[in-house]
Amino acid sequence: MIRIAHFEEYEPKFLRALQRHLYTSFGLGCEQAGCVPWPLENREPNSPVDGLLLLNTAPKIDGLPSDRTLYLTQRKLQTRKLLTGELHTSGLSQYKGMRALLSLPPHEELERLQKQIFRLAIAELGHNFGLHHCLDPRCAMYPPWTLPQASTEASFCNFCRALSERYIRR
Ligand SMILES: [Zn+2]
Repeated sequence: MIRIAHFEEYEPKFLRALQRHLYTSFGLGCEQAGCVPWPLENREPNSPVDGLLLLNTAPKIDGLPSDRTLYLTQRKLQTRKLLTGELHTSGLSQYKGMRALLSLPPHEELERLQKQIFRLAIAELGHNFGLHHCLDPRCAMYPPWTLPQASTEASFCNFCRALSERYIRR
């Protein structure tokens, strides 16, 4: 089961669409866990948040031990430092873990950017289930920092879909 929890309120229409999309992509039940309290000390609302800390301190959602939770926030996440420079971070997840996090664009942009958001949600949850990045640019597991934004699909390639089905059922 995948559970969607959020730190701010979102349009039910957007949440339902995300829920449907995750259900179809993973072939796994997906439920909304509702709004959860912000776990970090309240600092400047506009200052970027330590995504890893947020991921690790987010309130636990009741359910089965095998449930994965996707947390949504509109707060910006701190950039990650790579050898090649600063990487803008809009999603994080625990590899083979139970939690994933998305930093969403402002409310008025959610509809326009829906496909990219769904794609990122699949990628981060995919890491939870043990998937690595994929070399097929159309696949949701293609590395986000090389993303040719407009041309990509919010779904798995056949290879990753088969892998995800295998990993989910083991
Ligand atoms: Zn793939």
